[in-house]
Amino acid sequence: MNPGSRHPEPLTLRNVRLPGAGSSGLRDVQLRDGRIAGIMPAGQAVRQVGSEGPRGDALDADGRFLIPGLWDHHVHFTQWVIARRRLDLAATTSAAEVLQLVRGALSSDPELAAAGADSAGSGVVGYGFRDGLWPDLPSLSSLDEATGAVPVGLISGDLHCMWLNTALQSRLGVSTDASGLLREADSFAVMDQLQDPAALTPEIYRQTAQAAAQRGVVGIVEFENADNISAWPLRTAAGVDSLRVEVSVWPDRLQSALLAGIRTGDVLDERGLVTMGPLKVISDGSLNTRTAWCWDPYPEVDLGHPHSCGMQTVPMEELQDVMRQARDGGIAAAIHAIGDRANSAVLDAFEALAMPGVIEHAQLLRWEDIPRFAQLGLTASVQPEHAMDDRDVADAYWAGRTDRAFPLDALTRAGVPLRLGSDAPVAALDPWVAIAAAVSRSRDGRDAWHPEQRLDRATALAAATRGGTAGGGSGGGGHQLSVGDAADLVLLETDPLGGGEHGGGEHGGSGFSGSGLREMGVSATLLGGRLTHDGIS
Ligand SMILES: [Zn+2]
Repeated sequence: MNPGSRHPEPLTLRNVRLPGAGSSGLRDVQLRDGRIAGIMPAGQAVRQVGSEGPRGDALDADGRFLIPGLWDHHVHFTQWVIARRRLDLAATTSAAEVLQLVRGALSSDPELAAAGADSAGSGVVGYGFRDGLWPDLPSLSSLDEATGAVPVGLISGDLHCMWLNTALQSRLGVSTDASGLLREADSFAVMDQLQDPAALTPEIYRQTAQAAAQRGVVGIVEFENADNISAWPLRTAAGVDSLRVEVSVWPDRLQSALLAGIRTGDVLDERGLVTMGPLKVISDGSLNTRTAWCWDPYPEVDLGHPHSCGMQTVPMEELQDVMRQARDGGIAAAIHAIGDRANSAVLDAFEALAMPGVIEHAQLLRWEDIPRFAQLGLTASVQPEHAMDDRDVADAYWAGRTDRAFPLDALTRAGVPLRLGSDAPVAALDPWVAIAAAVSRSRDGRDAWHPEQRLDRATALAAATRGGTAGGGSGGGGHQLSVGDAADLVLLETDPLGGGEHGGGEHGGSGFSGSGLREMGVSATLLGGRLTHDGIS
């Protein structure tokens, strides 16, 4: 195996099973030049490869299930890199619990503790405490006692407050009273300094990409609001090479992309991993802040308020103008639309421009707009886990309308191509979370939320592979493999279609049960025939 080459050595995956194939037996799958070169009954691959000369490497899958590599179609990768490095404090209910988590984090990472000693390390940043109802009080002395010399800064869940230890205060040249807390403007200034981009080294990106590969991810669509076109080729050259990355460009950088003659689909790096994706434009706000642009007003708002129905964040004329420039330069468009009115308007824009593309989120839709996606050749890029995070908020703010919120089945039935994503860091960069949410529309043992809009397993799985489902009413074939396909592959411990475990134990799930999906065991991941995660050999 030569991890640096564009095409790794030939490899045979022995004794794989294909999902949903039932008793049809074990297969050998030959990989060559980054593609699937052959799929045959187990045992025959040895002769075939042997007769062609140098015997390829082999990996015994021992009956594990082979599926196409998974894509997360909506990621803010740098934000996810930052979020992953933060200690999650969301579950804490007291200062004492926060301190316990901080102590645990430091003791489980000796490197961090050592790095803190010379104060050159990045230290610990925690996020998500809510101190409004704590029974005890935060103090500088208790935080110092828990942390020693490692710089530690803890950010509150609403981002309006920080708890800093002495080591961090002296590094940043700030000081607090005995509480150790900074609030509002003082804390914002500190938060900005903690996001020092120089601290985000290629190694940190590599680890985050590797963690995604361990969940079966082979590619992401990058929606970071940054110079993705320049940044990602540098990263793959520096060894961040476990993912394919389709990079988007935001309107403020569109002109420079057009001037450079970069078109959607162009390969941007030496490794052949980074390709140009779409223009990304945000057309409305979000549900939680009641800024998603809707046809109906939010409940309990003053109807005279200019934003009683949410808001558009870009005038439609301006949106069409920037989309037209992209289209004329060969760049596709992915437009953020959450409220039903924003979706209507974005559909209108695509229609006026006779331009195919993607609508990101598509959270609330008018019934009559759903078939328009298919008529206009548009894909819906959806984040099913947001429905789990926001179901209670949606029940409150979109009361009486949630039957058409996250309408995944209605989109599928209308023949709309569907792709799944996380919007990491909003949800974890783990396609099994999105697949499980789409299939079950439930989490934490709650009843399914609008179960009539669940996707069956085959459709959800296909929507999590490159480019999503093809539309046409069913994504049923999207999990299948063919000779000639890119050797972007994943080996799973259990049948994702619910057929059983690789050891043979049947715990068959129905098509709509999310059982086993969220925690799916991923044994190995291959990118262009190269192992990016190997939990087998
Ligand atoms: Zn996003």
